[in-house]
Amino acid sequence: MNNIYGFTREKLETYFLSIEEKKFKALQVFEWLYEKKISNVEEWTNLKKEIREKIKEDFSFAMPKIIRKERDTLTRKYLFELEDQNYIEAVVMYHDYGISLCVSSQVGCNMGCQFCESGRLKKVRNLETFEMVSQILAIESDIGDRISSVVLMGIGEPLDNYENVLAFIRIINDAKGLALGIRHITLSTSGLVPKIYDLMKENIQINLAISLHAPNDEIRNKIMKVNQVYNISQLIRAIKDYIAYTNRRVTIEYVMLKGINDNKNCAEELASLLSHMNVYVNLIPYNETNHIHLYKSDKETISNFCAVLKNRGINVTIRKEFGGKISAACGQLRSKEVEK
Ligand code: SAH
Ligand code: SF4
Repeated sequence: MNNIYGFTREKLETYFLSIEEKKFKALQVFEWLYEKKISNVEEWTNLKKEIREKIKEDFSFAMPKIIRKERDTLTRKYLFELEDQNYIEAVVMYHDYGISLCVSSQVGCNMGCQFCESGRLKKVRNLETFEMVSQILAIESDIGDRISSVVLMGIGEPLDNYENVLAFIRIINDAKGLALGIRHITLSTSGLVPKIYDLMKENIQINLAISLHAPNDEIRNKIMKVNQVYNISQLIRAIKDYIAYTNRRVTIEYVMLKGINDNKNCAEELASLLSHMNVYVNLIPYNETNHIHLYKSDKETISNFCAVLKNRGINVTIRKEFGGKISAACGQLRSKEVEK
């Protein structure tokens, strides 16, 4: 059965037309689901009884189950069990400017980045659109507060689940859906070049973040398998085209790995690579995990690296460390559960 939380307003309109109803009913359904947050169809009093019955027959309203929560001062981490007993996770972060949620887009990930826990356990399947939307709904209900921004930085490569991720973005951005401003939605990718071009042509103003993590192919080939398919020059070309087409600044993510990509030469090389580009670099202190023998760069190394970029005129910040204690990095809670 179709889960209602996977339907964009447009798709719901098509549904109503198919059962010979007016398409504005889709708007009413969205208001119940996302504005009033009432999922009990019996209470949808502005829809006739027959339509309510039909909706109950045609749709599932199931939500993923929260099976574990971990909390820290500024983070809450959730482990969800899906209908087929797969696990995914989502992380809430409390910032000065609001509450952000990091959502997963796949069960596992096939990109196999060396430093990443999600990639260590291979992709099992893509998440359905409703499984992404309901991460937000379940968590908003649990914390009793509204999520103000969403980042697709949980488990999975969002551009490897393109259609479902795009429908998810449409639903949460819809003024009658979760009404999250498009600039409050960030998609992070390891660099699937053709999909970056597809995304560019969608003409949506989301924030795009690129996991670059290395200034040259030699290093990037070692830590990110995807680089053997789309190398740095292809990726940089795509980013430049994306910026020119969308007029949006792109975020470059760079995880600081001790002795791998963190010396002064790397910083200089990165600065040259990104010079004259409308980008913003986010240096990410690596979140160490038990299974992977990679380590985070020293604080001093990170600040020196940052200084080199600044001197070369690059916009750069060091990401605040969230949730190290509660294994908040991408995929760590799930992998603990899977291995149990
Ligand atoms: N697959 C997408 C989005 C999910 S990963 C991507 O790779 O961009 C989100 C970000 O977390 C990526 O920049 C990824 O490189 C980074 N990351 C993965 N494991 C990490 C870890 N242990 N510590 C810090 N960052 C990590
Ligand atoms: Fe997948 Fe992103 Fe992890 Fe790489 S960093 S394995 S792309 S989730």
